[in-house]
Amino acid sequence: MIKSATRAALVSVVGMPWDEGSSFLRGASGAPARIREALHCGSSNLCAENGLDLSADGRWSDFGDVAPNSGAAGRAQIEQTVAKLLAQGKRVLALGGDHSVTYPIVRAYAHAFSKLNLLQFDAHPDLYDEYEGQRFSHACPFARIMEEGLVSSLLQVGVRTANPHQRSQAARFGVKAVEARFGLPGLPLPTGAPLYVSLDLDVLDPAFAPGVSHPEPGGLSTRELLSMIQNLPTPIVGADIVEYNPQRDPTGITAMLAAKLLKELLAAMLRPPC
Ligand code: MN
Ligand code: MN
Repeated sequence: MIKSATRAALVSVVGMPWDEGSSFLRGASGAPARIREALHCGSSNLCAENGLDLSADGRWSDFGDVAPNSGAAGRAQIEQTVAKLLAQGKRVLALGGDHSVTYPIVRAYAHAFSKLNLLQFDAHPDLYDEYEGQRFSHACPFARIMEEGLVSSLLQVGVRTANPHQRSQAARFGVKAVEARFGLPGLPLPTGAPLYVSLDLDVLDPAFAPGVSHPEPGGLSTRELLSMIQNLPTPIVGADIVEYNPQRDPTGITAMLAAKLLKELLAAMLRPPC
């Protein structure tokens, strides 16, 4: 009897081609298709760096895309899709889309997990109360998450654009930040609850990830980010990769990077709890 071969996949990769939360440039809605193309491109293989061969591992599957409507209906569709997968015992690795998708995703997670620690890799705090009149902008998702009390904690890593308003929001919500200017000591991650990882590609220096809407110099190297992901404590119960913009990526180099990060996050989510 081969149970593992018939066991339903644990992690679902879900594309969210959504960029109406973008404030400066649209284009992130084209990301899921380009990241999948890079993932299956013959120039690399489907192994994570620890040797886990994702091409032969039945513990994950590609759910395809949520095709969201616009506005509140679209956010509800994202939330309901994630909630349905969580109710089936699955874990979600989402491919944005811009960063506004994280709010409806985390809403679904908050119903399934009474305690959840949130780790955000980002050049930006995304804590605006509103941005250009929009409360659901990609500049605001973590303000919405924190004011609804959806998570036990939020740690932001790589931030280098925090203005006075966002600093006061961080203080108001008790958000902790490891700002890029202070270097990268070990991450002061809280324990005692499962972890959700939200990865905005602009956390990386534009030298490594030029294909984003808001390139911000002074960021992490690819190697630094990979090392942090590979050393995260488990269980990691959910993740997203957001803000890849194919229109800023004529050579496809950032698509390959996003695909690499997808493999490493999958490997981290499939690691046994430590
Ligand atoms: Mn962001
Ligand atoms: Mn950002």
